[in-house]
This record gives sequence, C-alpha cells and structure tokens, in this order.
Amino acid sequence: MAAVVGIYAEPKEKIDFRKISGFVEGNLGFTVKLKRLKHGIVQSKGLLYNPIATGRLFEKVRLKKSDIDILITDRLIATYEDSDRRLHVRAAVFGYPSVISTSGIVEAPAKPKEYYLQKQKYSLLKAWELKEGEVKKVFRDRFIDYHDKRMPEVLKGFVSQAIFFNLTGSPFCEKKNCRLFNAHWQEDLIKAQIHSGKFCKNHQQELKSIKEEVGCHA
Ligand SMILES: [Zn+2]
Repeated sequence: MAAVVGIYAEPKEKIDFRKISGFVEGNLGFTVKLKRLKHGIVQSKGLLYNPIATGRLFEKVRLKKSDIDILITDRLIATYEDSDRRLHVRAAVFGYPSVISTSGIVEAPAKPKEYYLQKQKYSLLKAWELKEGEVKKVFRDRFIDYHDKRMPEVLKGFVSQAIFFNLTGSPFCEKKNCRLFNAHWQEDLIKAQIHSGKFCKNHQQELKSIKEEVGCHA
C-alpha cells in the first residue's frame, strides 16, 4: 500500500502547497513530500501534452521514497480526443506521474454562457479590453481565474483525484457535491471544490479505509 505522495511544483507556481499537504495528510493519511523544481519538466508539442518526454525528465527529479507522484504546472496542456479528433485543454492528465495544470483549471471547464455573451458583445464593440475587469468582477463567484485565491482549495480536489486514480484506477465521482466530481463547467467546479469542499458519503467511506490501510504501513 502506498504511503507517500510526492508533489512536484514547477518553478513558476507561487501557491502555498502546505494547505494541500495538510489536506491530503488529514483526509487520506498519506505523508506528503513537496519538491520545488528548478526547471520546468512538463513537455508538450504546442499544446499537445507529451507524457513520454515528461516522464523521462521526471525520472531525474523523482523523490526516492514516493509512491504516488503529482506534478503541478502552470503550462497549458491538451490531449487529443479520438471521438471528435480535436485537442482538448485539460485541468489534469492522470498517469505516472499525474499532471495538474493551474492554467487548465482556469481554461478547461467552461465559464457561464452569460459571460461569453458579454465578452462577445464588448468584443464586437471593441471595448473588451476596457470592460474585461468589470465583467470579471460580476462573474467572480462563477469561475476561477488566474491568480485566484481559491486555487489551493481547488487543487485539493484535483490532487485527491490523482490519488484515487493511482489507488483505484478511477479518479472521478458522478456526485456533484463530491471533490472527485469531473466538472465540465466552472460553476460545477466551484460547487464541488469550494461550496461543498467535501467528499460524498461513499468516497468518505472509501477514504476511511484508505486512511486505515495507509496507517498500518506508515
Ligand atoms: Zn464521490
């Protein structure tokens, strides 16, 4: 059973990771080791994420005693989807290591439709640059933006998803009030990670047994 989670922060990330470590240690019982990287290692061609090139660089910085590895980057990354033959920007790509992109958290889940309408309206009037701040203020509670104070809180959920991916192969939950909910809309993301900030009953149960098992091996 895994006992140590390694969180690797790319150089530009200014986030307070102690909040995230505390959350993981408290809820899942893992020991978290944080490593700040000197150089960015997440590799992509254009936006397309390259897991092989990233993995190769990752091996050089990997913590010796880490069982679950999670990279946090501000790089925007996408994956190619066969279903519609398009690139999709991602908040997280789960794997070994998993990669969580803070820019992806801002860009991947859709903002409210009304926001796009406002943006379109002011863009047509060539006034978007002037109005952007004002409009964003109105929609502040409905999406996560760059340099958002809520980012560490949101990251707790994505880190939990990466850990569930490692332990069970399935990072997501279909319940909208669960930290593991796979949000396609910013409003759903905020609901799961900020307003609820909890796991559903089933996952709470699962966390309890994970914590007990980790405790036995720590
Ligand atoms: Zn759940």
